[in-house]
Amino acid sequence: MNSDRNFRKKVLKHWPQMPAKSITDTDSKILSRQILELLKQKNAIIVAHYYTDPAIQKLAELSGGFIGDSLEMARFGAEHQASTLLVAGVRFMGESAKILSPEKRVLMPTLAAECSLDIGCEPEEFKEFCKKHPERTIVVYANTSAEVKALADWTVTSSIAVEVVKHLGNQGKKIIWAPDRYLGNYIMRNTGVDMLIWDACCVVHQEFDVESIRQQKNSHPDAELLVHPESQPGVIELADVIGSTSQLLKASQQSQSQKFIVATENGILYKMQQACPDKEFIMAATAPANEDFACQTSCPWMKMNNLQNIYETLRDQTNEIKLSDQIIAKALVPLQRMLQFNQKR
Ligand code: SF4
Repeated sequence: MNSDRNFRKKVLKHWPQMPAKSITDTDSKILSRQILELLKQKNAIIVAHYYTDPAIQKLAELSGGFIGDSLEMARFGAEHQASTLLVAGVRFMGESAKILSPEKRVLMPTLAAECSLDIGCEPEEFKEFCKKHPERTIVVYANTSAEVKALADWTVTSSIAVEVVKHLGNQGKKIIWAPDRYLGNYIMRNTGVDMLIWDACCVVHQEFDVESIRQQKNSHPDAELLVHPESQPGVIELADVIGSTSQLLKASQQSQSQKFIVATENGILYKMQQACPDKEFIMAATAPANEDFACQTSCPWMKMNNLQNIYETLRDQTNEIKLSDQIIAKALVPLQRMLQFNQKR
């Protein structure tokens, strides 16, 4: 397993160097028009994650595309008749789309958009670890590379992870879980299943700070706290609702509360505010910036996607996700298991 120091070193190596250039409203309108044209010309559709910039989410909506979590994105892409999927998110999302739609061209605004969980779980290292525990069932989070998925028995998203592990535990199975240590520990606490947990984390969610959030709750006693389970255990303990991004969005719509403190990536506020314009959403507080990096509720890789690189990618048909047939065939198995399990729920 990775030590925290090693993990931070790996993350820093992949940290985006250039902050996204800000563009004027006029440029944004021109680019959006050009992108809409290109989408038609290339028979393409935008599939965006909730954590991307609101300008991208708006454009996805306007063009008949899709906004969702990683699994919903891949499913939408597979069912849509477009021949090209423009996946605005991070690389494992483009890979999942390709695994489920191998016949389609999958493009990404930048192939450098990574995820600290994916970075923290290198295939070779993970393979060696799994070899040492051949009796265990391998369950990996969606936030992993296609190579890591190809080593797994199951892939899960945060919305389904507890149920899948409970199901496996009922069959007497012991688990290897990768890569998120906080989500892994949350699943283990909720299922009681024997799990060996890999040691990576989401650098955005781990910054949510227990003491600062406790103070926020005191200042806003009428607010519900919505928490993603990639957060630290102390933050999860304070939560009124714990769930995946889609589950938190749904909870904010269904709740009688008028005010929410939100402990997940700040891109989700676009959809929350759109669905509930009269409700108030406050981002949960993060710890003071550490010496290496600070996300401050914003995923640096998600925010590498912008209108300019979407336009250039569509125009030049670059940044294509390419995976070997062998990896696609192997990685499809754990993904399909999850999809079939989800259908039977
Ligand atoms: S928010 Fe965290 S889990 Fe999501 S892509 Fe960014 S680093 Fe990965």
